[in-house]
Amino acid sequence: MNVRYYDVIVLGAGAAGMMCAFEAGRRGRRVLLLDHGERVGRKILISGGGRCNFTNLHTRAENFLSANPHFAKSALARFTPADMIALVEKHGIRYHEKTLGQLFCDDSAQRIVTLLERECGEAGVETRCGVKVIKARQKNAAEAAPKFIVETSAGDFAAESVVIATGGLSIPKMGATSFGYELAQQFGHTLIEPRAALAPLVFAPEDRERWCDLSGVSFEVVARAEAKGKTRTKVAPEFREKLLITHRGVSGPAVLQVSSYWKPGEPVRFDLAPGREVLGSLLEKNARRDAANLVAALRAILPSRMAERWATTQPTLDWTNAGIARMEAALHAWTLVPAGTEGFAKAEVTAGGIDTAELDARTMESRRVPGLYFIGEVVDVTGWLGGYNFQWAWASAVSAGQAV
Ligand SMILES: Cc1cc2nc3c(=O)[nH]c(=O)nc-3n(C[C@H](O)[C@H](O)[C@H](O)COP(=O)(O)OP(=O)(O)OC[C@H]3O[C@@H](n4cnc5c(N)ncnc54)[C@H](O)[C@@H]3O)c2cc1C
Repeated sequence: MNVRYYDVIVLGAGAAGMMCAFEAGRRGRRVLLLDHGERVGRKILISGGGRCNFTNLHTRAENFLSANPHFAKSALARFTPADMIALVEKHGIRYHEKTLGQLFCDDSAQRIVTLLERECGEAGVETRCGVKVIKARQKNAAEAAPKFIVETSAGDFAAESVVIATGGLSIPKMGATSFGYELAQQFGHTLIEPRAALAPLVFAPEDRERWCDLSGVSFEVVARAEAKGKTRTKVAPEFREKLLITHRGVSGPAVLQVSSYWKPGEPVRFDLAPGREVLGSLLEKNARRDAANLVAALRAILPSRMAERWATTQPTLDWTNAGIARMEAALHAWTLVPAGTEGFAKAEVTAGGIDTAELDARTMESRRVPGLYFIGEVVDVTGWLGGYNFQWAWASAVSAGQAV
């Protein structure tokens, strides 16, 4: 069978794959970009509620989870949020900061996909969709260069460099597969167990019974995943954002953030009144210390239905000063042990992935197999909610695109 030759083959035409392809193409490399889906950038289209939160102004290595917290630094410094903004502005895409440094398109995520398609076109990238990758292998020493053969449903392709940009396991109906992980293992790479992250949490049965009829109720909290015992070397960060009660558990940005740090069997804790004393009015001279007044005080910080439910779920209503102090403390430490997350079907990202210990942080090249690169979500670098995951996809892609 006829083998077609390229300098670089990029597997996966998502955020990272497209960015890497045109970065390499601009350098005069002959690039083939392959995806098994019918079109490129499908996850970008559904991202950020259809408006794509394409970067975060405050991106730092601290906003990422990885077995090596320093790994992302080099790539993030090479391609910064300012570089992404310059690219977005070059294409005349209007955007706005929604909150906490999160930049969204004013109209549609399609703009970002069009940007990437145009850049790929201008850089001479050959893009092929609907191509099933069957296998990628390294040639043996006796075979002539180039190093890699990629066998696909559209025939065999050969290249000096292969870039794996096939993403994580989240949202299988958007084309997610375990291909990248399997290929990495085939080449001797270590995998940090992939797990659902930025995912809603599911209540244990008794909590579901107690809270889930309030589905749709939302309020601000400070949330944190708590380690059981003192086994964790580092305390997980806190997130001050909205919590949403769902028909199965809790969601909303605060919960998605802590889900990435949560481990099965461990508790999550919510401060329902961050930085506020709520029940002080009950302690005032002549104040009526009763359930009606408790609910009235709770309504200052919680939606009515949640305030009423919270009051009825307190173990015993003890109106002494000490009892009121205990109720105040409980409000700042609502502690739940979730039964699980909603899993990959609902998770925005996959934490874990290709172990960074076996990758070069400046180029994303495998330390085991020269010429093989891993970028984007398939790597064990996972961002917080808020544009960090795309910034990692762009930055890791540019690092590899400049090296292949
Ligand atoms: C609902 C949702 C909303 C999100 N919103 C945001 C947001 O607003 N901001 C943000 O920063 N992040 C967001 N994310 C996360 C972000 O989309 C991902 O982190 C990012 O897309 C990862 O880029 P990637 O290129 O590594 O992988 P992907 O974008 O997943 O691309 C991987 C590509 O590889 C292809 N592929 C997979 N397997 C194969 C195979 N075997 N053969 C060929 N091709 C294959 C897939 O079809 C896909 O096109 C969101 C995620 C979801 C699910």
